[in-house]
Amino acid sequence: MNTHFDASDNNDSYDYAAWVTCYVGLGSNLTNELGSPVEHLQQAVAAMQEQEYIRAVRVSSYYASAPMGPQDQPDFINAVAGFETTFTAFKLLDFCQALEQQAKRARLRHWGERSLDVDILLYGDAQISETQLTVPHAGLHERNFVLIPLRELAPELIIKGKPITDYPLSHDWKGLKLLSND
Ligand code: ADP
Ligand code: MG
Repeated sequence: MNTHFDASDNNDSYDYAAWVTCYVGLGSNLTNELGSPVEHLQQAVAAMQEQEYIRAVRVSSYYASAPMGPQDQPDFINAVAGFETTFTAFKLLDFCQALEQQAKRARLRHWGERSLDVDILLYGDAQISETQLTVPHAGLHERNFVLIPLRELAPELIIKGKPITDYPLSHDWKGLKLLSND
C-alpha cells in the first residue's frame, strides 16, 4: 500500500541515529468504504511493514474491547504493534497520523467511534511531555486493552521503571475478549 507519506526532514530534538524499539496501540470500531475494523488494523500493519524507516514489525493478537467513552458505539478491535524505527518520535507521530488519515478517520465525537486510532505507547525509553506528544502514552497504565496486548508482545518490558506485569491492568480482562487468529 502506498501511504503517500513524506519521510524526508526526519529530524527534531528527539533525534536518534540508531534503530529505536517502539510500541504503538491500534484501535478501530468503525467500518467504512475502506474496510472493517480488523481490516483497518491489517492495512495499518501492512503500511508499517512497507515503510523503510521501520523494521522487525511484530503484532499482538487482536482483541475486542468495550468502548471507553460513549457506550452507544460498537466494541473496539485493539492490537499493539512493536517494531524498530529510525523515525524520530515526532516523525513517527506524523506517520501514525498519516495512517489514520489513510483509513479516512473522521472525528465524530470525543472518544467516539473511529476507523483507526494509532497511538505511540513507547519510544525506546524516551520521556516526552508536550501537548502534541506524550510518551510513554498518558493513558497506558489505565487501559487493559493496551497493557494486555503489550504484555503479550513484550512480557519483560519495563515501563517507567516497573515491570509490565506489575501493572494490575496487564492482568485484568474486564471488557476484553481475545479474538481468534483466523
Ligand atoms: P485519543 O487517541 O486520545 O483518542 P486522538 O487520537 O484524537 O485522541 O489524539 C489527540 C492528540 O493526541 C493528537 O493530536 C496527538 O498530537 C496527541 N498525542 C499526545 N501524545 C500522543 C501519543 N503518545 N500518541 C499519539 N497521539 C498523541
Ligand atoms: Mg490517538
